Amino acid sequence: TAPAAEPLEVGGVTVRFAGLTALDGLGFTVAPGTVHALIGPNGAGKSTCFNVLSGVCRPASGSVRLGERELTGLPPHRIAALGVARTFQNLALPPRATVADTLLLGRHALTRTGFVAAGLRRPSAAREAARHRERVREIAAFVGLDKQLGAVAGSLPYGQRKLTELARALCMEPKLLLLDEPVAGMTADERRRTAAVIAGVRESLGISIVLVEHDMGVVMRLADAVTVLDFGRRIAEGTPDQVQNDPAVVRAYLGE
Ligand code: ADP
Ligand code: MG
Repeated sequence: TAPAAEPLEVGGVTVRFAGLTALDGLGFTVAPGTVHALIGPNGAGKSTCFNVLSGVCRPASGSVRLGERELTGLPPHRIAALGVARTFQNLALPPRATVADTLLLGRHALTRTGFVAAGLRRPSAAREAARHRERVREIAAFVGLDKQLGAVAGSLPYGQRKLTELARALCMEPKLLLLDEPVAGMTADERRRTAAVIAGVRESLGISIVLVEHDMGVVMRLADAVTVLDFGRRIAEGTPDQVQNDPAVVRAYLGE
């Protein structure tokens, strides 16, 4: 995997829903190969920001650039093909597929032809399909799911389902990974394990990460920089230590 040589630059992004301003001129920059956390109270606009970054939501104004590429206005599949992968706050896994098939689907965005059908026809396509299966095994091992490849993903314990979703995003060989509450609902043990996997994604794969997470312990451990949102606006930015001691952040969380 090529590390992201390019910064993500978000500038002046505004999103309105019928009378409500969900994002209000939001801007932040994610340096290549870093973990940038986006935190804030419920309804602050974090998921909306991810929807903008992944092309699901088109902002009324503002820009999102990955290196020289302008992403705003592109459809989600084009943004995915440019190297932006995401996981969802609520699990979105196909109900009956095995972990292996779920991860192979994650590689679908990489292929020019539909590789499932093509694999039956051309020898080169068969080799390509074999390479995909090999990479799926590597990524499953990376997140610690190598023993679960043959299991139905939807029937695994919650923590392993969340890891399957993370692995599926990694299968797209992203430059930028958007993680929406990756440890929410996990046991303490699953949290530790998932945080270690995320740290590994940054260190060994060199992938930039935008992390939305309520667990401040995980944010403190993983984030290089933190942007704090409240009512769609940036109210603080800095290292985890800096923002944690920022009075505006404390006020926002206490709802004063
Ligand atoms: P967060 O992820 O930080 O909890 P969201 O981005 O989900 O916040 O929501 C920000 C605000 O926008 C909230 O007030 C929410 O109710 C509103 N909102 C989000 N999505 C929609 C939508 N599709 N239609 C209308 N309002 C929305
Ligand atoms: Mg959210």
